Amino acid sequence: MKQLHSFLQGSWKPGIGDDISLLDPTTEGAVAVCKKAASLADAVAWGRATGGPALRAMTFAERGALLGDMARIVSEHRDELLTLAANNGGNTRGDGKFDVDGGTAVLSAYAELAKELGDAPWLVEDEPALLFHGSKLRAQHVSLPRHGLAIHINAFNFPAWGMLGKIATAFLAGMPVLTKPATSTSLVAHRIVELLVESEVLPTGALQLLMGPAGDLLDHVGSQDVVAFTGSADTGAKIRTHAAVVAHGVRVNVEADSLNAVVLGPGVDQGTELFDLAVRDLVTEMTQKAGQKCTATRRVLVPSDKLEDFREAVMERLAAMADKTGDPRDKGNRMGPLATAGQLRDARDGVAKLSEHAAVLRGDPSRAEFSGVEAGKGYFLEPILLEASPERALDPDAAFHVMEVFGPVCTLLPYDGTPTTAAAIISLGHGSLVSTLYSDDRAWIAESIPNIAPHLGRLVVADEKSARASMSPGCVFPVANHGGPGRAGCGGELGGVAGLSLYMQRTALQGGASNLARIVGRKG
Ligand code: NAP
Repeated sequence: MKQLHSFLQGSWKPGIGDDISLLDPTTEGAVAVCKKAASLADAVAWGRATGGPALRAMTFAERGALLGDMARIVSEHRDELLTLAANNGGNTRGDGKFDVDGGTAVLSAYAELAKELGDAPWLVEDEPALLFHGSKLRAQHVSLPRHGLAIHINAFNFPAWGMLGKIATAFLAGMPVLTKPATSTSLVAHRIVELLVESEVLPTGALQLLMGPAGDLLDHVGSQDVVAFTGSADTGAKIRTHAAVVAHGVRVNVEADSLNAVVLGPGVDQGTELFDLAVRDLVTEMTQKAGQKCTATRRVLVPSDKLEDFREAVMERLAAMADKTGDPRDKGNRMGPLATAGQLRDARDGVAKLSEHAAVLRGDPSRAEFSGVEAGKGYFLEPILLEASPERALDPDAAFHVMEVFGPVCTLLPYDGTPTTAAAIISLGHGSLVSTLYSDDRAWIAESIPNIAPHLGRLVVADEKSARASMSPGCVFPVANHGGPGRAGCGGELGGVAGLSLYMQRTALQGGASNLARIVGRKG
């Protein structure tokens, strides 16, 4: 059995205590084991003291070259990583690519951005501001890498993209990282770090990997550290309120649950490209990674007069997907299992709660036979579609507005087609990551955006003309903000250069105009 060690203080450490098994969610057999780490006090201090100075001594261009090297290494081992993603994550090849190629893409995107930022070691943000009328004094904002450690705690669903996206922004900003993947699916993350360590591209101390639980990690955080967390709202709340985090005012970014809702605008008829796109996007978002995506669509607002057509079109596509749910290593299958027994149990419980407020249109949560899998084995859940009444769609206590079911599960919500009702329903999710508006009606879109966008971190606007080229809302691009208000965690990651701000301290340099200009290298 493969033993997965942590990479701490520059060497592989086996850990202590009992073995923790990583399972294959298709067969339920163990694929590797790891152990919890001993105290992490020294690792946290070592990362700050060793990796920090090494990265800060590099320019943006040099850090970008490092990201480029990392992208190349991951990409060279793509097939091996896709196999591990199937074996430990239950990913079909397509799902594995979404994760692994997504990770390579974000490294490459930040490597490109570094070329624009050039040979500077830190950011000079904007023109200096006049302190008061008639004064020679100015305020010039600069952003410098923090002198602490970036602690990354990731969710189970994207062991490659989730880890590499956070590392790309922290490294480019100039901060060293200690990354902790979710234990259940950590095989891919472990192999990526192993490859990076073997390649010797990383400056000493720039990257550490913690396998197994967080242990005492957060007890050792300090005022210059950053904690970037992705996972459930419950764990996010524990991290925000951790005594050491509170005591030292540690900067925390939380990416948590999200009840994403997309909106079909009025007048989008069956037979149009836009209608087909809305159906296709929904099925993609429900079934990619078996619905285990923070950006997956959980609620769909459909004008009441289009409900019948929309429901039928979605049901037809989902039926085809249900037939192709099974062993992700079989190329004929399009959807694999959920990641763990716990996820399956939670998703089944969640469907039972949703069904108190919405009718199940299709899908049997207790189905036990799937393509290419021994009956009763594996953590499979077939796609489940529910539908609520128009009155229930407006009920703030309805389960579909309260509970994220992390699987291939979605609820259709009929509405009257107005932007105000759409916004009212979306807002019942109390802050989401993303939505798509499907509409050709410019006045409707113009009225919808100011009502809906404040509840979201990203809003896709899809129209008939761009329907063929449009991407489903769950495709996260490094140039676009990723994060959402309220329940989604109120965090923000990626988004081009804005993504660096999490790891940098924005300081206003205040002084004489010509002195400041000299300091930041401006003429004047
Ligand atoms: P989770 O149970 O909250 O775990 C997330 C991470 O936190 C794991 O690495 C976990 O480690 C760690 N953790 C658990 N308890 C901790 C503690 N007390 N202190 C420090 N770390 C702790 O979430 P999950 O089940 O992996 O992920 C599913 C959730 O993530 C869903 O709700 C989904 O919406 C959300 N998500 C959000 C985004 C986003 O960008 N907004 C992206 C992906 C997923 P162990 O695995 O070792 O327990």
